[in-house]
Amino acid sequence: MAKLQAIRGMSDTLPDQSLSWQYLESAFQRIVKRFGYREIRFPIIERTELFKRSIGEVTDIVEKEMYSFDDRNGDNVSLRPEGTAGCVRAANQHGLLYNQQQRLWYSGPMFRHERPQKGRYRQFHQFGVEAFGMAGPDIDAEILQLSASLWKELDLSEYLTLQINNIGNAEDRSRYGIALTEFLKSKAQQLDEDARNRIYTNPMRVLESKIPEVQQALQGCPKLQDFVSEASQEHYLALQGLLMRANIPFIENARLVRGLDYYNYCVYEWTTESLGAQGAVCGGGRYDGLVEMLGGKPTLAAGFAIGIERLVLMLDSLGKIPEEVRKPIDVYVLVVGANLAEQALELVQRIRTEFPQLGVVSHCGGGKYNSQLKRAFNSGARLAVILEREDTGSNDLKNAKIRRLEDSKESETVEIANILPKLGEFLQNSGS
Ligand code: AMP
Repeated sequence: MAKLQAIRGMSDTLPDQSLSWQYLESAFQRIVKRFGYREIRFPIIERTELFKRSIGEVTDIVEKEMYSFDDRNGDNVSLRPEGTAGCVRAANQHGLLYNQQQRLWYSGPMFRHERPQKGRYRQFHQFGVEAFGMAGPDIDAEILQLSASLWKELDLSEYLTLQINNIGNAEDRSRYGIALTEFLKSKAQQLDEDARNRIYTNPMRVLESKIPEVQQALQGCPKLQDFVSEASQEHYLALQGLLMRANIPFIENARLVRGLDYYNYCVYEWTTESLGAQGAVCGGGRYDGLVEMLGGKPTLAAGFAIGIERLVLMLDSLGKIPEEVRKPIDVYVLVVGANLAEQALELVQRIRTEFPQLGVVSHCGGGKYNSQLKRAFNSGARLAVILEREDTGSNDLKNAKIRRLEDSKESETVEIANILPKLGEFLQNSGS
């Protein structure tokens, strides 16, 4: 029978790869803890309406990329394509938002039916942070400082560039939309069908077209910057001041509008050159109108999401995962000869209790000394403990051998009664 394969665009994360993920996850968790953010968890599936209302009906995500289906009750539900909508829904439903300030984070899988390529998958994973109840720009600067701290923790700062833009508020954008629609109407002949269809539904999206003729037709089109309100501009300039003060370099990118409808004022994206086409690693901004759009009281809000796969790709390709992360096993216990299972089980457990921070594996399933030793080497362990049946006729084990796997072929025989302190000495002498 043919071997079953995963669905296209959905990846398995195998044990070696998981070590990189865990390294990244623990760095992220250290940073959010340092910044006082608390974790929120919410379902992977929500009513489709939630995403339509928040992300926007006329966006790529909602129009083409969602995994939506009727469940057995006939309710139309979708796998979440991003985290903010579910986070807001959950926080609002449980009364975390009204008249309060919240600093929240989440992580987990997201689903978009995009064309898969390196760095772009149909199931991918994000870390996100969301801050509620604060007007900014101080909170916007804090969020950017949090991401910058993560890059520093991962030694990636030099590979990431912060781009920011001021996209105004919903009113500014609707005034701009009217002007842009007028302009696009006059250029309709030069637009492709897709762009023509968007003239009345979502004219800003035409600006993102990759078709050269469309870009040509867009020359001289109205600029969003000329429509943003004074309040938005003040916010934006103040944010820039805070970023400079915090030593977070940025560049302004007037074309950065982001694909989702709910943003306002400042939007931001961290990008890298080291990933090829999919260079966006983290994106976010303010979204002061979203909570109300989802049925809550007006609530100030800002946040970002980081693409975990893309960061892992960066860490791996730039060699930024420390060597010891790749070696989760420290001690490999060889069990050579029959009837040693009981002693081995007991001894290994004593080692684990004495050195709870170590990974200790006991060889199971028997086999010759040499093949067990080979497994010990392959496991990456620093030390092997060799339990071997002695020809004394007694059932008790008196001695074991300890061998350094990194640099020596010598082993030292030690009394079982003395093995824990001896192991401690060996571990101290074997570096990390
Ligand atoms: P977005 O919600 O589109 O702003 O995405 C935030 C971040 O998630 C991006 O900067 C990417 O790093 C990551 N991301 C978005 N879509 C995908 C995808 N299809 N595959 C992998 N990562 C993605």
